[in-house]
Amino acid sequence: MNGLSEAERFLIEAVRRGDEQAWPQLVARYQGRLLAFARQRARRPADAEDFVQEAFIGLLRGIGQFRGDASLETYLFTILRRRIIDAQRGQAASLCLLNDQLRGKDDNAAPIDLPAPDPTASWYVRRDEHRDAQRRALAQAIDQLVSGYKESLNFRELQVIELLFYAQLSNSEVAEAVGVSPGHVASIKHRSLARIRQHLPPEARQAAEIGGTSGGDALLTEVWEDHRPSCPKRSTIGAFHLGTLDSGNRAWHDYVDFHLHRLGCRFCLANLHDIQAGEDQTDQQRVRQRILQSTVGFFKR
Ligand SMILES: [Zn+2]
Repeated sequence: MNGLSEAERFLIEAVRRGDEQAWPQLVARYQGRLLAFARQRARRPADAEDFVQEAFIGLLRGIGQFRGDASLETYLFTILRRRIIDAQRGQAASLCLLNDQLRGKDDNAAPIDLPAPDPTASWYVRRDEHRDAQRRALAQAIDQLVSGYKESLNFRELQVIELLFYAQLSNSEVAEAVGVSPGHVASIKHRSLARIRQHLPPEARQAAEIGGTSGGDALLTEVWEDHRPSCPKRSTIGAFHLGTLDSGNRAWHDYVDFHLHRLGCRFCLANLHDIQAGEDQTDQQRVRQRILQSTVGFFKR
């Protein structure tokens, strides 16, 4: 469970043991951000709570096979997003607001290729093992690339590759968004792909086929969505909200601002909205009760 924090690992293991105290804690920890995400995406506001409830049920159903390659938050967001796409008949919504602004909201809702509707997270755990190993290797390579950018404060290049691989913009759209030439964008893309390849183990290099093929680029985007290597931590988003983030590091502050407000990452915006909404205890408790009631059967076996 490489992608998990200590707290997440502790919660998951406690829930697996059937610890009835751990489950309400886990629900309380994640429900707000999931609800904020679902409310952005659900066509009818009343559906948002259903989707979140189903995401938690999906987590419990698949918890035996949960490997923890990505954070628990990202895993829950992924189940939730799949559920929303299934319920809204394959209408995929972009993950970044910038996409909607450039393409127009409705045009962007193109059907995408997905497994048959499945209320559990089994689509996630049943995937092909070999392909999964490829994806894990690719995720690690992207992680290393992103960490390198962050350590060297090279936020310009990080923004460019987020716009290319996460928001899936074309070279010329990226050029316009960050104010550089399309040629410059192309060279950053070339350089970053070369670095990703370098970080891949030899056996993954060829099969991943990244760069140069549209299938390879799609895989890159898929891995980006499933692992969210560049998304700031929730604590960082909290500090950004409080205005305490930029002590001595303006570039980092500006990058987080870009990720939230220019790129418009919907996962991170869901966290920001949840933090901004603060603790509306009655509403939170009502939703939590509902989720706990619907999952009580899992702990009575
Ligand atoms: Zn993000």
